[in-house]
Amino acid sequence: MTQTNDIEVIIVGNELLKGERVDSHLSYLGRAVLPLGARIARAHVTADSVDEIARVLSGRIGETRTVLVTGGLGPTPDDVTRRGVAAGLGLELEFHEASWNAIQDFFASRGRQATQANRQQAEFPAGSRVLANGEGTAPGFEIESGGTTVFVLPGPPEELRRMFSSHVAPALSERFDRDPLRVDTFRTIGVGESTLFDLVGETLGALSAYDVSSLPSRGGVDILLTEKSSLSDRSLLDTESDAVAEALAGAIGTKFYERGERSLAEVVGSMLAEREETIAIAESLTGGWIGKLLTDVPGASAYVLSDVVAYSNAAKTDLLGVSAETLEKFGAVSEETCTEMAHGARNRAHAAFGLATTGVAGPTGGPPKKPVGLTFLGVSWDGGCNIKRQLFTGTRDDIRRRACQGVLWMLLDHLRKQ
Ligand code: ATP
Repeated sequence: MTQTNDIEVIIVGNELLKGERVDSHLSYLGRAVLPLGARIARAHVTADSVDEIARVLSGRIGETRTVLVTGGLGPTPDDVTRRGVAAGLGLELEFHEASWNAIQDFFASRGRQATQANRQQAEFPAGSRVLANGEGTAPGFEIESGGTTVFVLPGPPEELRRMFSSHVAPALSERFDRDPLRVDTFRTIGVGESTLFDLVGETLGALSAYDVSSLPSRGGVDILLTEKSSLSDRSLLDTESDAVAEALAGAIGTKFYERGERSLAEVVGSMLAEREETIAIAESLTGGWIGKLLTDVPGASAYVLSDVVAYSNAAKTDLLGVSAETLEKFGAVSEETCTEMAHGARNRAHAAFGLATTGVAGPTGGPPKKPVGLTFLGVSWDGGCNIKRQLFTGTRDDIRRRACQGVLWMLLDHLRKQ
């Protein structure tokens, strides 16, 4: 048997094996189990096949204490996980009346009727404890076999996440019988991983209470401190975490933008909300992405006034008031156009700040002297404007993502320095 706190995951889905979907469960689960003092020790991806699921699962029974199985709980013929798990454990499926009633109620509350195909979603291996799914039709279940606890959860990422935190995490933390491990996240932007470690590596290297990992993400690098499971003196936790925050702030200033889990858009949004200030956005190469990032945050209507996607020159003139002469003389991808876009957005919406992006996202094209990746980012305010010229590298997606994060950071930097 493996260590108590080791968890194995069996992810079911033909679409993952065929490359039609990128797995997102592991990136969630790998982090979600850390506070429980657990780790994902191994993961398997299997086809939507009763035999495959049964074979992988039966091989883990008695070998590992906790197995999470995800996906394939829906009503369609390829949803065979219930049968696969039952076969792997040598059990029959049993019909669960209360779950069938709950599924029918779910449909009725939406003015629809459950079908016979949904009926199979109320069948579980004998002896299962059913885990209600508040958001979808597919209930999960938990079952013990040979010293192994198997949790089976639906595949849609949102449902998996909700059911993991409402059902699995509480059950595991009780079982592991230890305080959750502390995990501290430090979010940075605009500094490469190696430079970051040159700057704060000494502080990180001196930590005795935490394991350190670094995750490039969201156009920046996250540093994650995870409490060592062997730690006895928990009083070190605050001291060492504070030392990292201090070292980062000293080394990279506002490029260390969050101690916690908030995104850059959330941090910027909460600063604007606190100050009761507003923004208007003018987007060319980012095509509405900045607006999406900001309005993903609940409450964004308190500070986002408008988002104009002005892709063509004509739109830049008509919607933002960029002058035809500026476009003619300097081109759409220029400091001058970006300045007029930022001012135009701000003035037209009567906002406190204007944000603007214009650039060459690639992968081909780019006028002479304007290579792929050349991007101008602008922040304007009453009486001023800050424009940055950047030469981003990477794919079209990378360049656009960096432009979004870059301009949000410029606003954050401006707000923090005011
Ligand atoms: P449903 O009732 O929606 O069919 P289910 O439990 O049968 O639920 P699946 O059919 O396996 O779930 O997956 C539902 C959706 O979730 C699909 O779009 C699938 O691609 C997506 N999904 C499943 N597993 C993963 C995963 N590991 N990573 C990302 N997306 C996933």
